[in-house]
Amino acid sequence: MNLKELTIKEAHKLLEEKEITSVELTKAHFDGIKKHDGNIHAFLSLTEKEALESAKKVDQRISKGEPIEMLAGIPAAIKDNILIRGAKTTAASKILENYIAPYDATVIKKLKEEEAVFIGKTNMDEFAMGGSTENSAFGPTKNPVDTNRVPGGSSGGSAAAIKAGFSVYALGSDTGGSIRQPAGFCGVVGFKPSYGAVSRHGLMAMASSLDQIGPITKNVDDAAAVFEIIRGADILDSTSADREWQSYHDKPVDIEEIKFGVPREYFTHGLAPEIEKNIKAVISKLEKEGAQIEEISLPYSEWALAAYYIIMPAEVSANLARFDGIKYGYSKMSNLKDTYLESRGEGFGAEARRRIMLGTYVLSAGYYDAYYTRAQKVRRLIKQDFVHAFKEVDAIITPTSPTTAFKFGEKTQDPLSMYLADIYTVSINLAGVPAISIPIKEVNGLPVGLQLIGNNFEDIKLLKIAKIVEDMSK
Ligand code: GLN
Repeated sequence: MNLKELTIKEAHKLLEEKEITSVELTKAHFDGIKKHDGNIHAFLSLTEKEALESAKKVDQRISKGEPIEMLAGIPAAIKDNILIRGAKTTAASKILENYIAPYDATVIKKLKEEEAVFIGKTNMDEFAMGGSTENSAFGPTKNPVDTNRVPGGSSGGSAAAIKAGFSVYALGSDTGGSIRQPAGFCGVVGFKPSYGAVSRHGLMAMASSLDQIGPITKNVDDAAAVFEIIRGADILDSTSADREWQSYHDKPVDIEEIKFGVPREYFTHGLAPEIEKNIKAVISKLEKEGAQIEEISLPYSEWALAAYYIIMPAEVSANLARFDGIKYGYSKMSNLKDTYLESRGEGFGAEARRRIMLGTYVLSAGYYDAYYTRAQKVRRLIKQDFVHAFKEVDAIITPTSPTTAFKFGEKTQDPLSMYLADIYTVSINLAGVPAISIPIKEVNGLPVGLQLIGNNFEDIKLLKIAKIVEDMSK
């Protein structure tokens, strides 16, 4: 048995049946990391001692015959912008190089209640800004499928860790695609919940009206298992939603009852023909099995990238103002003004600085209405597109990305070409709806992600539908 290939469900069962111990499971993952992460660089820091202590505690409970939670004793990798008390949390930025988190994010608190085993913090684009993990101040992560290629981003370390068998599951964050796109590039499952489904308390804010935490896993069942633990209202995040959630294990959906929408705006120029072919093959198969397929229109999709790249940097510029060289992090002390200028100038990387400047510009007097207010109006229209669509259909099928994983350096000189890679993912964040990327048939040995979008707060229904599509694309 290869312990590094186990899913959450399989590992849980083996732990319960005493076929394996959590210490064995945890050690197997660390062995893999020690052998291969020198090359992949999925992790920025490891917490081996703490992980083995947690694993031991779970093993003691199992040996006493106590029942254990679903995620108990199972290794988890956490994106480095999510706070674990006492652990180094850098968001892959030089400005936070030596920052130790003073409290647990709400999602971490919830996972600790499950007795999860945290093995380390994963690499990412600095402050989650990017789509390739090349913007990490500590060097990029490589795609385990082809190490000449990027793993996607910004949660590239989390996606690579799952693909490489370094962890059973991971958490990422998604502001404009950062869970789904790397999952697609690495051939794993990535789920961005509805905005407000999961507390953002303890997630380093990038663009607060768009950010969500979600799981990166080996399959849809595991994504549901993690989601069912981390979701829920939180007094420490006023944007978290208080809802009655269905259970993923309630009655499954019947394929013949599902109506899929295929938005014509997502299948036009720019989409690699082989990806289109593979997505369309899944659609035909679903139709053959009895699902209803309908072409739909999301007419404002065309302006999604433009709106996103105004609203997101506006919020980035406000959120990153707290890194001033005084309160925490990298500091170049001199007089007050130079302390700000030098600490921020040297502490932030090029992409962070670019977005801070863009965001400050679109929020400045004189330009606010021309850019920010207009982008907000477009955001409303994009939201309406989805409201209309979901009156007709249960889920929307699109590609996750227009291409497969690209090579290192291919887009770093041209930020616009990097931003274009987000074309299919950003409108979902603008609208706040849930979406999941699942791997389908590869193209030239490289993974392809299919994105399924669900209606607002119909996360469980979306996961159930995703399970059907996953089974069908095997
Ligand atoms: N690639 C997108 C960006 O650079 C998405 C980032 C994210 O979701 N955190 O903004």
